[in-house]
Amino acid sequence: MKWNMIIDVARCENCNNCLLAAKDELVGNDFPGYSAPHAPQGRGVLRIERHVRGSTPMVDAAYVPRMCNHCDDAPCIKASKGAITKRDDGIVVFDPVKCKGRRDLVAACPYDAVVWNEQEELPQTWFFDAHLLDTGWDAPRCVAVCPTKVFEVVRATDEEMAVRVEKEGLRPVKTGLGGRPRVHYRNLHRADRCFVGGSLCAEINGRVECVVDAEIRLLRAGAELARTRSDAFGDFRFDNLAPGSGAYRLSVLATGFAPAEVEVDLLASSVVFGEIYLQS
Ligand code: SF4
Ligand code: SF4
Repeated sequence: MKWNMIIDVARCENCNNCLLAAKDELVGNDFPGYSAPHAPQGRGVLRIERHVRGSTPMVDAAYVPRMCNHCDDAPCIKASKGAITKRDDGIVVFDPVKCKGRRDLVAACPYDAVVWNEQEELPQTWFFDAHLLDTGWDAPRCVAVCPTKVFEVVRATDEEMAVRVEKEGLRPVKTGLGGRPRVHYRNLHRADRCFVGGSLCAEINGRVECVVDAEIRLLRAGAELARTRSDAFGDFRFDNLAPGSGAYRLSVLATGFAPAEVEVDLLASSVVFGEIYLQS
């Protein structure tokens, strides 16, 4: 059985409890064989990355917890010449003695998961709280303190984990960086993909009102990709679209109004139509 982590981006509220718990555990505390004391100042080994999408009046922010991915084919291990090792349970450990002075190991990680501790002259990272797991804990401290259950610790064989990754559409935090991470993300599209959204309104009894429960279809080259309905505020949204994916068309049908069509050109970021006026 090996340790894995699944992180649900849609659940993170940026409360920073996990960061504080990691600091509380690691700053000033020596765990021989696992880690020298971490520094009180500077970026910790856990951090929250903020991603903002959309524009007024439809903006959302996603928060992505970042840490060491405990890669199975870790570039840091290859660069370390024996100073970093992978345990049989999947956890990657930076030896606090052998890593002394190895500032080069900060840059060896393509995921920016290693921080430099000036006082200890050590590269340090999040080691899955292995010192606690080895004494019988069933999860690292960040899991227990997270109020919205962002983290799911999974003990599984590589084969079992591969099935979950495939079935649940889990992804590494960045594609193309390699290393075969053991930390997997759910709902990562909230951070790295685009949405198209807007608000439907119309003149009703001499006043501009929201158009509720209209049907909106997302089309591409004539084929329907998705369908949704406007909510109580006339708002609608299609999410999880690839940045730079180009031309789409919105087709709107609302009872009592003429059908409407809107062209969309999706470039690098999300597209928000402020208000789409429907005609009677
Ligand atoms: S995320 Fe970086 S530090 Fe962690 S195992 Fe992978 S390469 Fe090494
Ligand atoms: S404790 Fe949970 S909700 Fe709070 S920042 Fe960390 S992952 Fe996000």
